[in-house]
Amino acid sequence: MSAIALSERIYPHLPVFLQNAACWNYGRREANIRFGKSFDSRLASLLNTERLSESEIRAYQDNQISQLISHAYENVPYYRELMTGLRLAPDDIRCVADLQKLPVLTKETVRQNFERLVSRKANVRDLVARHTSGTSGKALHFYSGKDAIAFQWAVWWRHRIHSGVNFDSWHANFTGKLAVPPGQTAPPYWRWNRPMRQALLNMHHLTPSKIRDVVDFLNNHDFTFYFGYPSIIHMLAVNAREAGLFLTSRPRVVFTGAEHVNEWQRRDIQEFTGATLTDHWGLSEGCGNASRCSDHVYHEDFEFGVLECVDPQPCGDGRVRGKIICTGFANPDFPFIRYDTGDTGTWETSELRCSCGNQSRALAGVEGRTEDYVITPEGARIMRFDYVFKDTVNVKEAQVVQERLGAIKMRIVKRAEYGILDERFIASEIKRWISPRLEINFEYVDEIERENSGKFKAVKSRLQPDQIGREALRSRELGEDQLSGGSGSRA
Ligand SMILES: [Zn+2]
Repeated sequence: MSAIALSERIYPHLPVFLQNAACWNYGRREANIRFGKSFDSRLASLLNTERLSESEIRAYQDNQISQLISHAYENVPYYRELMTGLRLAPDDIRCVADLQKLPVLTKETVRQNFERLVSRKANVRDLVARHTSGTSGKALHFYSGKDAIAFQWAVWWRHRIHSGVNFDSWHANFTGKLAVPPGQTAPPYWRWNRPMRQALLNMHHLTPSKIRDVVDFLNNHDFTFYFGYPSIIHMLAVNAREAGLFLTSRPRVVFTGAEHVNEWQRRDIQEFTGATLTDHWGLSEGCGNASRCSDHVYHEDFEFGVLECVDPQPCGDGRVRGKIICTGFANPDFPFIRYDTGDTGTWETSELRCSCGNQSRALAGVEGRTEDYVITPEGARIMRFDYVFKDTVNVKEAQVVQERLGAIKMRIVKRAEYGILDERFIASEIKRWISPRLEINFEYVDEIERENSGKFKAVKSRLQPDQIGREALRSRELGEDQLSGGSGSRA
């Protein structure tokens, strides 16, 4: 068992002050990476380039592509072989338009070529092992150089700075991580990560029986902003409102990430907090990002990577909808070139001149995977099962289905190596992350069928409306606003 896994086992049994110390320690280490030595210069440079004109942006990206392709060809075995096989030399790919000569890079290709995607020039001591499960339950492992992580955080902080917060601002972070053990039945239902100026509140305690203590806590502190998954902050807003509670100490802004924001979530969160909700679209693979401006569109963060619209479909109003394929500039140690993000974007017409002044291409929205949620015996609504699948490399795909209250069904497509230990591990992770009382059944299938829209649904609720309650019923009636949000960073 690794040191991290061991400390994760010990953490829930520590007294509160030691849990706070562990959060402090984590915060200090993480802050050192995020705000590492290149962060300041990256941010300063980003605040400079954001006013480039359309033609300057094009020239900037063409230059970046040219450098990246030469580097990948010289130093990354996978791309060397790929380009050689296609009879392409670096001179054949000199601008964004030339990227089409290369095939799309799928998650499965990354998995199969993991070792060969690492640059021979990478400094091993500088590499951070990372992984993401996305929404389909397949774990993906990759490396990021430390500068790539600082670059990504600089892009996210540019968005935060434009939304009126600064590095001294304290915030409440609504998370799925087990900051406060789910079994805890008395306050404090929060922990402090002081190096990152955040209070951590996890979804497990935003339930009707604990919501009063949580809202009192928020009102007794001066948080400049909230940050978290929209589904989790929405849980706060809905349960507080149903308990007749209000915020007297309000944040200035709410940042969400990692999930599409449904319009009904946005409305409820803004109504409860009195703050503007803003978000960005991105991914922890760190090869593309788009940030929401004051005019409510996403602008591509063009300095960070190229977003291509692949298989474009005209929407009839000048907008174009297509797959988002990303090529990242930040991480030459493990380059993602033409990476299939699995998301679909709707780009604004190229004639759009946004009044915010930013001339990088704008997206009206990123189509969310319509997300259902599971209701736990504790009354929590859980949309995210990422944590459960974080380490399950033997799972090809997984879907969580709830057909009755108190139980869920895990539908799993196995990889060849999958065994009984994997099943036990998943069950124990669900008990740990989601709910200790939830009944878990397994069903093994050859494939998980897509929705009519072609999208993969990670969580599916077959509960009857009277079981879900008023809130969900209302959201179903309203349906999903396709243009409202991004699937966000999965960091
Ligand atoms: Zn704008």
